[in-house]
Amino acid sequence: MSFRSGRHFLQIPGPTNVPDRVLRAMDLPTIDHRGPDFAELGREVIAGMRRVFQTEGDVVIYPGSGTGAWEAALVNTLSPGDHVLMYETGHFATLWSQLARRLGLEVRLIDGDWRRGVDAAVIESCLRDDREHSIKAVCVVHNETSTGVTSNVPAVRRAIDAVRHPALLMVDTISSLASIDYQHDAWGVDVTVGGSQKGLMLPPGLGFNAISAKALRASQSAALPRSYWSWEEMLGPNSKGFFPYTPATNLLYGLRESLRMLLDEEGLNNVFARHHRLAEATRRAVRTWNLELLCLNEEEYSDSLTAVLMPDGHDADALRKAILERFDMSLGSGLGKVAGKVFRIGHLGDFNDLMLMGTLAGVEMGFAIAGVPHTAGGVMEAMGYLSERRNN
Ligand SMILES: *Cc1c(COP(=O)(O)O)cnc(C)c1O
Repeated sequence: MSFRSGRHFLQIPGPTNVPDRVLRAMDLPTIDHRGPDFAELGREVIAGMRRVFQTEGDVVIYPGSGTGAWEAALVNTLSPGDHVLMYETGHFATLWSQLARRLGLEVRLIDGDWRRGVDAAVIESCLRDDREHSIKAVCVVHNETSTGVTSNVPAVRRAIDAVRHPALLMVDTISSLASIDYQHDAWGVDVTVGGSQKGLMLPPGLGFNAISAKALRASQSAALPRSYWSWEEMLGPNSKGFFPYTPATNLLYGLRESLRMLLDEEGLNNVFARHHRLAEATRRAVRTWNLELLCLNEEEYSDSLTAVLMPDGHDADALRKAILERFDMSLGSGLGKVAGKVFRIGHLGDFNDLMLMGTLAGVEMGFAIAGVPHTAGGVMEAMGYLSERRNN
């Protein structure tokens, strides 16, 4: 490999760019995780994560990927053979449903076209038909990272309440947490699943569950086997800032730093506004290029990533390859059903106006190099939008 000067542009929708401050914060000796210094760190990051999830309830932090946190949500609350209602918003919702089936759950996956979010009316009618209340959980992905579509979680809550169904509501926020507004308590969610490597601006390696009182009660009778993922094992030591097994101490140093940046210095509402503005500039560029967004509903546009449909007969992966080779920028590939048909621009995490301009310039130059038909000027359009509008 030859040396490439300047920074690599990591514009996939996670893992995201890790700020230098966070990298430096992790570059410390690993301490005794049973000692007094650790307890302070443990308490600070758990309290901070409560603010990120917008909950007063329990939050558990696992050394693990988001997929592990998906598994934790299910094994702590459900029993073998329980019925679970899921919604095929895209690749990640499909993967979660496959994981649930492998655990021995009876999954009904509502079909989706990968261009829209969850239709709460369909969930409501499934639950209305379930008179015996055999469905124990409704699981949805808040921000579907494969499609760039953000679903309306409060509408799902209202659908469950409209038919007075007792199912738990579980939500994957892995690519929305700390990028797009999300309120675990106010939206009546029972288990929220998160990960470290997207909006939280950390390397991969931490998974999160936010847990409602109702979910905690369900965990007392849930019969799926669990040990590593057991909430009960975690919550005891967590109350004193400790963990039942060796935590990812250095990632927690990083988390402490990113929480200070997000919560205390920038403020969550400003973080959300920044993501919205950069996402809107991206969408304006795409429209100017005369290309189509995968997401069909304006009110469901994702503020953390944009999935762009390629013109017929043009391969998204050939474009991504050209951009990586020429400009040292990684863009997200199309996953599952939309492989080769879309590319994804990640605009979440540690990201600002000029990073977006560099990203969009790389895409527009890539079109020219790869021979992708488009109208030039998307970059100019985004520049105009960003220069007219401040963040706050
Ligand atoms: C990234 C992502 C996952 C998978 O997380 P891993 O850390 O790769 O296990 C799941 N769901 C969504 C919505 C994601 O964006």
